[in-house]
Amino acid sequence: MHLSRRQFTAFMGSSISAYALAPALLASPRRILTARRDTFFEWKELRQGVHAGFGQGGNAGLIQTDAGAVLIDAKNAPFGTTLRREANAVGEPVVLLINTHHHADHTGGNHAFLSDNPVRVIMHPKAMPRVKDQLDRYTAQITGAPDRLNEDTAKEVRDEIIAAASQADGLESSDFAPVATLPKSMFEGTPLPLGDLSLKLTHIGAGHTDNDIFIHIPEHNLIHSGDLVFHKNHPFMDTSAGVTSTGWITSCRAMLKVCDADTIIIPGHGEITDADGIREQIRYFEVVREAAAKAIATKTTREDFVAMDLPVFKDYGFTQIKQRSLGTIYDEMLKEKQGG
Ligand SMILES: [Zn+2]
Repeated sequence: MHLSRRQFTAFMGSSISAYALAPALLASPRRILTARRDTFFEWKELRQGVHAGFGQGGNAGLIQTDAGAVLIDAKNAPFGTTLRREANAVGEPVVLLINTHHHADHTGGNHAFLSDNPVRVIMHPKAMPRVKDQLDRYTAQITGAPDRLNEDTAKEVRDEIIAAASQADGLESSDFAPVATLPKSMFEGTPLPLGDLSLKLTHIGAGHTDNDIFIHIPEHNLIHSGDLVFHKNHPFMDTSAGVTSTGWITSCRAMLKVCDADTIIIPGHGEITDADGIREQIRYFEVVREAAAKAIATKTTREDFVAMDLPVFKDYGFTQIKQRSLGTIYDEMLKEKQGG
């Protein structure tokens, strides 16, 4: 691969507005072992055989086992082919893909794993119909991607994006969602063995969406939280998918229960973190809920509330969705007050 850091940044810059939730490439905390900069995605090694992939959608987790690799989350649709190629180049070929929830920046690349030489794909049963409903969105993103390429993009990546666009019309919902999923009991932390590792998939209830799962790998003391953690970013609140701050907090507390001081958290967005990142996510909701309750008690309008500054979160990213987050929590608190 021949993509310089400058070229990578140029591509990111050209397409960032189209994928509003693409994570910022932030400085790495102390636990990163190595970081590859010659790839399209930035692959950071967190422990031996454990990588996180950054860029073009939610953060991916890539974990090697002696029966092949498991990939967690598949980024935005135009980049599926590139994701599969680079993930396979890190170590063993990917034999299992797990989606933490249905959002298109975590499932868009599924087609590269399902349409040709398919691998096993797992998502929560409630995610499946939602993924199928997003077919038009995925294909529109794939079809539009070549127009956002610039000449600095590595040829290999360009070719993959252009090839995907030329075949987008043929994609079906079955290229994004598996034909069958696991029984619900498999999303209650029951170990799912893969080679020398056991993957524990847990769905607590509606949090960020109604189909979030977090993946705990005890052998590595690692959790991929999906979008239950938007580390140091304003969280995306999707009212069409059952989001509530109370449910989100409940899911975070359940995650904390399996953490200790050395647990590594790959968040859905933001830098690699640890249990403190989960605590901070909970605190975000607690602070905003308290502020919303006060606003409602003092008859502050929703409009004024969402425009409020939150000094405690002044360094947070994703400021473009701050008003949406605040408004959603205001509505939730109002409903709670009215006994809804
Ligand atoms: Zn999401």
